[in-house]
Amino acid sequence: MSQKTIYHNGKIATNSTPYFAEAMAVGDGKVLATGTSSNLLQTREAGTKLVDLGGRTVIPGLNDSHLHVIRGGLHYNLELRWDGVPSLADAMRMLKEQAQRTPAPQWVRVVGGWTEFQFAERRMPTLEEINEAAPDTPVFVLHLYDRAMLNAAALRAAGYTKDTPDPPGGEIQRDKRGVPTGMLIARPNAGILYSTLAKGPLLPYEDQLISTRHFMRELNRLGITSVIDAGGGFQNYPDDYKVVEELHKRGQMTLRIAYNLFTQRPKHELEDFSKWTSSATLYQGDHTLRLNGAGEMLVFSAADFEDFLEPRPDLDAALETQLESVVRLLAEKRWPFRLHATYNESIERFLNVFEKVNLDIPFNGLHWFFDHAETISNRNIDRTVALGGGIAVQHRMAFQGEYFVNRYSAEAAKRTPPIRRMLQMGANVGAGTDATRVASFNPYVSLYWLVSGRTVGGLQLYGEENRMSREEALRLYTQGSSWFSTEEDVKGSLAPGQLADFAVLSSDFFSVPEEEIKGLQSVLTVVGGEIVYAATDFSHLAPPQLPAALDWAPTAHYGGYYNPVPVEAGMHRGCSTHHAFVASRDSRRIGESLWGLGCDCFAF
Ligand SMILES: [Zn+2]
Ligand SMILES: [Zn+2]
Repeated sequence: MSQKTIYHNGKIATNSTPYFAEAMAVGDGKVLATGTSSNLLQTREAGTKLVDLGGRTVIPGLNDSHLHVIRGGLHYNLELRWDGVPSLADAMRMLKEQAQRTPAPQWVRVVGGWTEFQFAERRMPTLEEINEAAPDTPVFVLHLYDRAMLNAAALRAAGYTKDTPDPPGGEIQRDKRGVPTGMLIARPNAGILYSTLAKGPLLPYEDQLISTRHFMRELNRLGITSVIDAGGGFQNYPDDYKVVEELHKRGQMTLRIAYNLFTQRPKHELEDFSKWTSSATLYQGDHTLRLNGAGEMLVFSAADFEDFLEPRPDLDAALETQLESVVRLLAEKRWPFRLHATYNESIERFLNVFEKVNLDIPFNGLHWFFDHAETISNRNIDRTVALGGGIAVQHRMAFQGEYFVNRYSAEAAKRTPPIRRMLQMGANVGAGTDATRVASFNPYVSLYWLVSGRTVGGLQLYGEENRMSREEALRLYTQGSSWFSTEEDVKGSLAPGQLADFAVLSSDFFSVPEEEIKGLQSVLTVVGGEIVYAATDFSHLAPPQLPAALDWAPTAHYGGYYNPVPVEAGMHRGCSTHHAFVASRDSRRIGESLWGLGCDCFAF
């Protein structure tokens, strides 16, 4: 057996009985025992390592059951993240600085994860402001699923002129003379936004490896140890999975990823899934990287984009036939599947198809689930449960609840999604974010939304009846999500025999004021018994630094999620100006030492 470690003197939430333990013994990548500090310390042998938790709270590693992590990783170091930035003035300052340091032909990309309601100014930037901040460097700013704002340089780089026709379901906004203004609008198909983004240059392969490792480290910093990847447009299997396969081969994964395969070709979906179900093996890989089935796009005709600025789309009449052929194949092959579904009207039609297939080929325990399901009816929750399905929920409403209320009323918003009802009906429910292109990947923003019922802009969406206790919210984010990759027997709790995946938190999740939940982070993250991230009092346990990002990479200067005062407020106060100063001298180093491993600016 590998060296045993005893973590003691903590407040360890086990998701088991008893709920809290003081100490935990870990060995061979698994939890060996939990109990009181004095009991477990007595089991110490020669060579046993001890880690004093200093009274801190420990949670089972967070599991985001819907994050586009593989695609996000390829581009992470190319993206300027506005996630959590408190004001538009800050956001625009970052954009301007980044435009100046970005070399041609690269673009500055702000790819979702923000909403104007998080800004003190409570508005988005104008095209004029973006052009003024970046006169020469192409800039692409994605806002939710509804629009992208391009400066003049990006319009040139993308080749949009007076003569470019609008794509189906999308609008290139034009001025009186017919010249594109720089605003691209999903009406309501987001295809126009993503196909334009795909025109930008990529990182070289070696840097994609580094970028993916940086993204995993950023997620580890937030206490995430597992993710279920929902595929994505322009995310082709197997080509775009080479990076993550390579990291897995090299033993450089710091996050467990189960991934679903997303069809790439409208009207050829059945071909895609026939090919994949014969060329790939379900669950191929191991608990660090494994194939988890199909979705979240099964057929393009079933895509109901969650753009609450536009009316609900009526899905194509062809969807039933197309979806049935794909689901029939998946049920025959016993491949689990997931399906993106925003509106009850879509879910109604999807369930009609599933029930029909189930009569011929019983699902019989097959793990299948809906993603999102903001407006699902009670009856359709029942039907989902009857078919043994689950629902993966995310905090998309925290970013666009204001728009939903404007269109459909505050009353209608109270159950979007009706999580309490899902739990009462016995549905499998997992939590997550759907990052990176609409919502942020920060799990504490999502936990905050589950607990408080409020948007990031502060709007109270839900009453007491549809809010989760902290314990319930944490359960959804750990045990709940583990069902969605059929791994509930190995992770989700800190009980003996479960994988040793956990995070030691910067403050006590169970008792901090509600508003402070958003600001939590991990100070020690462990995956399979290995420390993948350590900061502050645990920094002496930190793993080796990662290779640096390119020195102009936005993440090398700003990190990922906005982090004005890193862990242990007070100790590091004022270090954000320090960062800027050091960054101009030695930005390669800063990207690693300050953001990659947590803030240790006292070292300078
Ligand atoms: Zn989706
Ligand atoms: Zn998604």
